[in-house]
Amino acid sequence: MTISYVVKNGIYINLTNRCSNSCKFCIRQNGAGVYGSDSLWLEREPTAEEVIEDLEKYDFNKYDELVFCGYGEPTECIDTLVAVAKWAKSVSDISIRINTNGHGNMINGKDITPMLEGTVDIISVSLNCADAESYAELCIPEFGIKAYDGLIEFARLCVPKVKKVVLSVVETTLPDEDIKKCAELAQSIGAELRVRPFE
Ligand code: SF4
Repeated sequence: MTISYVVKNGIYINLTNRCSNSCKFCIRQNGAGVYGSDSLWLEREPTAEEVIEDLEKYDFNKYDELVFCGYGEPTECIDTLVAVAKWAKSVSDISIRINTNGHGNMINGKDITPMLEGTVDIISVSLNCADAESYAELCIPEFGIKAYDGLIEFARLCVPKVKKVVLSVVETTLPDEDIKKCAELAQSIGAELRVRPFE
């Protein structure tokens, strides 16, 4: 099974296929991999030891970052994520990023942001929308209408603990006024807004 794959200068880690969203645009509905990777559907979730064993095949000096990403929501496996991130920090100074839907605290039923302090450098939270109703309609979160405020609160709690917190939206999917609202929202919690191109 594919635990890690390379995209440009990053090593991407695939911890889980579970996700608390069912986004209408999710790439998982269209295929089994990304950027030419092998299938990212996992037979089972790897242990931290298995992820570390897999990562030992890379020379971290040749890459810019480690990214906990998908095919799924990485904070579904927060203990594995933190164990792997701590190991990576102990053997290198590679930058560590989490790409997340921001539901980590709701998924785990507790504030996980203290676990990220000192182990993760960048948190990129998919904001996707400018309001809770649009988010619930587009992302179909298992936490319902509360998911949007929950992800913003997660990002807000990350700000003092992580070097960089980014809220992301896709440029072609939102009108300018919504992007402006998202920028104001990001600024209000001390995060950055990234308007990313549709891929
Ligand atoms: S949060 Fe990401 S992995 Fe989950 S359904 Fe949405 S796009 Fe797919």
